[in-house]
Amino acid sequence: MGIVKQHMAEEEGKNELAKDLLIGVGYLTRCERHEEIVYRAHNGEVEDAYKLGNSKWTQIGSAWADRRDMTDHIKAVAESSDYANDGCEICRGQMAKD
Ligand SMILES: [Zn+2]
Repeated sequence: MGIVKQHMAEEEGKNELAKDLLIGVGYLTRCERHEEIVYRAHNGEVEDAYKLGNSKWTQIGSAWADRRDMTDHIKAVAESSDYANDGCEICRGQMAKD
């Protein structure tokens, strides 16, 4: 694997982990019917995910360069337009059809 590709894979893993932490505190949520769809739940704070990450540091700490690296990724995922929807697009589309 090339160095750029390797870096991208690493970033993807960090973003996935950050997403799981945000889902863990209810800031983001996963659609019950479409698990690939993640959207903003408007629960909790981004800081709650930082705390969750810190509390799991012994398990997940090795994924990050340091704690700052973790909070930077959590913040970036929390602010990402990818998850800025208020609900699941697919579910909304299906409801509109009914
Ligand atoms: Zn859905």
